[in-house]
Amino acid sequence: IIRIDSIVKRYGALTVLDGLSMEVMPGEKLALIGPSGSGKTTILRILMTLETISDGFIQVDGEQLYHMKKDGRLVPADERHLHKMREKIGMVFQHFNLFPHKCVLDNVTLAPMLTKGIARAQAEERAMELLDMVGMADKAKSMPAQLSGGQKQRVAIARALALSPKIMLFDEVTSALDPELVEEVLNVMRKLAAETDMTMLLVTHEMGFAHDFADRVLFFDRGKIVEEGRPEDIFRHPKQERTQTFLRKIL
Ligand code: ATP
Repeated sequence: IIRIDSIVKRYGALTVLDGLSMEVMPGEKLALIGPSGSGKTTILRILMTLETISDGFIQVDGEQLYHMKKDGRLVPADERHLHKMREKIGMVFQHFNLFPHKCVLDNVTLAPMLTKGIARAQAEERAMELLDMVGMADKAKSMPAQLSGGQKQRVAIARALALSPKIMLFDEVTSALDPELVEEVLNVMRKLAAETDMTMLLVTHEMGFAHDFADRVLFFDRGKIVEEGRPEDIFRHPKQERTQTFLRKIL
């Protein structure tokens, strides 16, 4: 469902992704792990078209995210096309990014109403189902500032699901949370993984969760995939020296 081919991402002189290729199958649950600054978040942002790329190509659900101009420049696909692509992919951020002046319910209904033209009543019905799924239905009228970090993150997950994406991206969704709130968010993600056939990509520092959640783990270092495999292989018998060193440090 995702095909990334030899992508390069540079910020000025800094090469963040260095000829990275990877494929993701429909329904696959992937965990992206690796040291800080290795480019994991950048990949999710590129897939979400929040960043452009310097070279390479990306296909999502059979469609090209960037087009090569005659002069060899890569430009994002046109706006209308990107709009459609964005509906296929939902993203949950480390810092929630809820709309602060909108109540919980409005946070979830806004995108479907604006981008898909869904009527309010219908959008609210669906939003309540999603809020119920993440255990937040009773807070539908609360404002984000009244919620704990774990609650905000569960609303953010419901919001990302509201457009019925085929692919969900989770970017360190528990790293800004107090430890006692981490589990409630992970539980929602476990439920999603178990009950839907969505493709899920997860950047995480929670190795225990990555182990249980993922079908496949990718270890990143310096803008490249150094090693990938089944969680039990990567965590118990990493082959590469760099993976071993990384896991020794954090486990
Ligand atoms: P972390 O676990 O800390 O989030 P990461 O593997 O997700 O790390 P990225 O966030 O993808 O790493 O960042 C990769 C590199 O790109 C870092 O060195 C970062 O400083 C750099 N970087 C990210 N965004 C920008 C930007 N807008 N301008 C310049 N450099 C950037």
